[in-house]
Amino acid sequence: MKKNIIVANWKLNGDIKTISCYLTYLKLRSSSFSKKNIIVIAPPTVFLERVYKDINNTNICLGAQNVDVNLTGAFTGENSALMMKDVGVKYIILGHSERRLFHNENNEIIAKKFSLVKKLNLIPILCIGETEIEKKSNKTEKSLKIQLKSILNVCGEKAFRNTVIAYEPVWSIGTGISADPKNVQLIHQFIKNYIKKYDSVSAENLIVQYGGSVNSLNTENFLKQPDVNGLLIGSASLKHEEFLKIIKISDNIL
Ligand code: PEP
Repeated sequence: MKKNIIVANWKLNGDIKTISCYLTYLKLRSSSFSKKNIIVIAPPTVFLERVYKDINNTNICLGAQNVDVNLTGAFTGENSALMMKDVGVKYIILGHSERRLFHNENNEIIAKKFSLVKKLNLIPILCIGETEIEKKSNKTEKSLKIQLKSILNVCGEKAFRNTVIAYEPVWSIGTGISADPKNVQLIHQFIKNYIKKYDSVSAENLIVQYGGSVNSLNTENFLKQPDVNGLLIGSASLKHEEFLKIIKISDNIL
């Protein structure tokens, strides 16, 4: 059965007033969302608890945008996966290209975070994707393999059981240039086949979502692809009207 996971990554946006208005609209409609859709809201960390209070007892899940590589200790300014779990987080976005670029996160750090998140029974949403240069030099598959292998090396062959992978071409994030849906389908197949070589159970149940300049106009073209199991959405998730349109399109496809 095809299931879609639709994730709103609010990045560094929002305030108490706009968030509470957004969630009011979302909650009003949430009982009509198809059970085949998993809806996740990933607000800035400071708003996690507040959002949880609002969406608790609905079919909307809470996601975090990042987590520290340590669980507790003298790490000023950080938030741990234990704390995330404590405030109701279920999904944690890891390895987003903005974390890799602006916070120097490399594959090794991301794999450590992935391992911690899994140990706590939280669900990682691992972002992988090629840069524009890699795409132009036909190195997309090579780049994805390196990013996946670093997780397998640290967490073992069953690493991708009960996880989500977000295929996010770096050149497409926040640029308004989305990837070709047919090409995305091929890449998602490649990802699943690569993981299958290590563990067929992981590959069978793997959710691979696409992210990169998704909006309500291109949603259908992505979700129609058999191996696109959802979307990770940045700017189009900031307006409740647009996000609700995207959820409705996904409902209609399933
Ligand atoms: C993202 O933040 O993961 C993303 C895909 O952003 P946008 O939808 O704005 O391209």
